[in-house]
Amino acid sequence: EQREMRMWLEAYELTAKFYEAVLNGTEQGKPAKQYLVERGFTDKMIRTFRIGFAPAFWDKLSQVLESKGYNLSSLEQGGLVRHGNNGYLDLFRERIIFPIHNHQGRIIAFAGRVLHSDQQPKYLNTPETKLFHKSKVLYNLHQARPYIRKKNQIVLFEGYADVIKAWEAGVDNGVAAMGTSLTSEHASMMKRYAAEVILCYDGDEAGQKAAYKNLQVLEQSGLHVKVAMLPPRMDPDEYIMKHGNRTFMTEIIGSPLTSTQFKLQWFKRKYNLNQPDSKLAYIRSSLHIISQLQAPSERELYLKELSRDCDIEIATLKQEMHEMRQENQKKQRIGDNIQKPWNNVMNDR
Ligand code: ATP
Ligand code: MN
Ligand code: MN
Ligand code: MN
Repeated sequence: EQREMRMWLEAYELTAKFYEAVLNGTEQGKPAKQYLVERGFTDKMIRTFRIGFAPAFWDKLSQVLESKGYNLSSLEQGGLVRHGNNGYLDLFRERIIFPIHNHQGRIIAFAGRVLHSDQQPKYLNTPETKLFHKSKVLYNLHQARPYIRKKNQIVLFEGYADVIKAWEAGVDNGVAAMGTSLTSEHASMMKRYAAEVILCYDGDEAGQKAAYKNLQVLEQSGLHVKVAMLPPRMDPDEYIMKHGNRTFMTEIIGSPLTSTQFKLQWFKRKYNLNQPDSKLAYIRSSLHIISQLQAPSERELYLKELSRDCDIEIATLKQEMHEMRQENQKKQRIGDNIQKPWNNVMNDR
């Protein structure tokens, strides 16, 4: 078992070298290189993140691995090749390759992006293996870890391209989950390295929705969260291409919203404020968030904003929030009694 895992790691490393060589030194790799250059990927980024290209052959990698003496049936378990009708086939064909490293810097998987946007799926990952558990891996953690520790902060992006472009712009503490869904395992991992997370997700609806969802996952693990906002329909990579590194660092990464600001802004978008019912629901949702803030001055700050926003007296909002807090406390007590039957016994005495 141990020996097999070591063999896989060697094979992944060799595979990465193969993809890099195809991208940087072959005729096959030229369109891919051209594509990357047009997207603003420099040679330095390509080298640092070891970006490669899987050629459009059916079994080129399989042949290379076999010629080096690797057992392809084992590597099928390792997610590098798959069994076809006549022998083994490569898993990735005609895709830009982003190697995925574990926190120690060993390659344990690959993500492959199509070259032509009409092809599906856009990204393909190595399947789960004994070494690769999507729910526990953060892209670029191996390089970002020392900076994350030093800054006590992580910047979390949606995509690989975002991490790479932001790295060049100066975000040396940036990572990404595999896809948009962040697990509680990711969150507790992050908590081990830093106290604060800046979420920097795409400005489109899907990105903002994922940010709202993941914000809660992160806060549940006790992380302090801020949200760096992008213009609608833009992701960090596209923003950097359009506005440059400096502007990205000051306007986006340097000016995040507080978690509360982001949540209130999210509600504002979700509810139709021209409709009385929906507006009231917006006020209640917002008050619920504000009521959970610890500092009275913090609560007052957001109450004032809400008051201006909805044209409702701050005293009225305060009153309603007060009732809400009492209600919450009552629920809490009842909840305690349900969870702990001995409470009733104690009360009876
Ligand atoms: P690009 O800039 O190359 O078009 P992106 O990173 O902006 O890619 P998004 O569509 O915003 O891509 O998706 C964000 C992330 O979600 C990707 O980086 C990838 O990790 C993951 N992802 C996207 N599409 C898929 C897919 N079809 N299967 C698996 N993961 C995906
Ligand atoms: Mn996206
Ligand atoms: Mn994106
Ligand atoms: Mn993108």
